[in-house]
Amino acid sequence: MIPNRDDLRVSRRTAFVCDERFFWHHAGVPVCGCDPADLDPDRGNYFQSSRHFENAETKRRLRNLVDACGLLDYLDTTTVRRREATDEELTLFHSLSYVETVRSMTAGGDAGDFAQFGRGSFNIARLAVGSGIEAVDALLASDPQIDNAYVLCRPPGHHAERDRGMGFCIFNNVAIAARHAQLHYGKRVAIVDFDVHHGNGTQQAFYDDDQVLFLSIHEDSLYPQGSGPSSDRGEGKGMFDTINVPLPAGSGVGAYKYSFEKIILPALKAFNADLLIVSCGFDASFSDPLGHMMLTSECFGEIATMLLESIRVPSCFFHEGGYSEELVPFCGLRVIESMCGIEASRVVDPGDEEANGYGYQNLQSWQKGIVDDVYNLCAKPCIEKHTLEKSS
Ligand SMILES: [Zn+2]
Repeated sequence: MIPNRDDLRVSRRTAFVCDERFFWHHAGVPVCGCDPADLDPDRGNYFQSSRHFENAETKRRLRNLVDACGLLDYLDTTTVRRREATDEELTLFHSLSYVETVRSMTAGGDAGDFAQFGRGSFNIARLAVGSGIEAVDALLASDPQIDNAYVLCRPPGHHAERDRGMGFCIFNNVAIAARHAQLHYGKRVAIVDFDVHHGNGTQQAFYDDDQVLFLSIHEDSLYPQGSGPSSDRGEGKGMFDTINVPLPAGSGVGAYKYSFEKIILPALKAFNADLLIVSCGFDASFSDPLGHMMLTSECFGEIATMLLESIRVPSCFFHEGGYSEELVPFCGLRVIESMCGIEASRVVDPGDEEANGYGYQNLQSWQKGIVDDVYNLCAKPCIEKHTLEKSS
């Protein structure tokens, strides 16, 4: 039976920003396979080539689930224009020489470290950046037509540094959108990155900036290895405005919720941001091939609700990683439902019940110890800094 589509109650106006061309980006040869063109048994290349982890299917299936369950009818798909970013916009973060290098690789190439791309991807990456900027413009308009926006874009962006692409990312969509909000609107921006990998590129962009709070919760030393320790706390004016919560592999719903309640939400409230930007990756899910965490789709929805209700400001979520074709659609759906304010979903995730019963899903003592240490080292001085600012 086709479910009735006329019974959803939404309490917030959510833009859904997607473009068929995002799905045409080609991320190059598989990371853990080999390019058949390079097949050389003398070098030990006996491994059957597989599909690249960062392929269009996970995100396309999210878009299709949003459509099939009827939620798309309740989303705003017209207010945010989709367009390519200009060089001026790309260089809000990236160096012009890096932009020119990527532009010059018309047949595709590698933008840096694990950042291969195919023909046409330069323009698709610019489309992702430009559409994110348009979403920020729509959110910060004097008479906004939307309360929040979900940008379902490819390629992802949070690893891309000033002078090089990294980790499947070409241009840093989030960093550029945040800079745009600063420069054109004079806004204070909070960025929360819950992709399972560290948002090294975004951290680099705002490391000495006291107008942008960067909060990243990730698996300890996964990718880039060694990146995102809790001792990275910002510098200069931006001291204490970078907070990293590196969780041990195997962390589940309990560890994530405790981290949000103890560190992320209190720091967000103290910072007093005008705009919330979220690097929304789903590779901390229990079935992700590139992460080792145990989150359920339900938990992603709850995290999104916590964020949206902790500071009631315009919010823009950018899709980052997430490589489970089966689970990413449900995780994304739960987040978008939270953004709309939907309390009861009509869609059941068949994996949630079993994953909720996994061992160590609750907060473990060693995880609590790590989070408490990060609170003392990072969140406490950040909260004190901004509480003092408010009172002076
Ligand atoms: Zn990731």
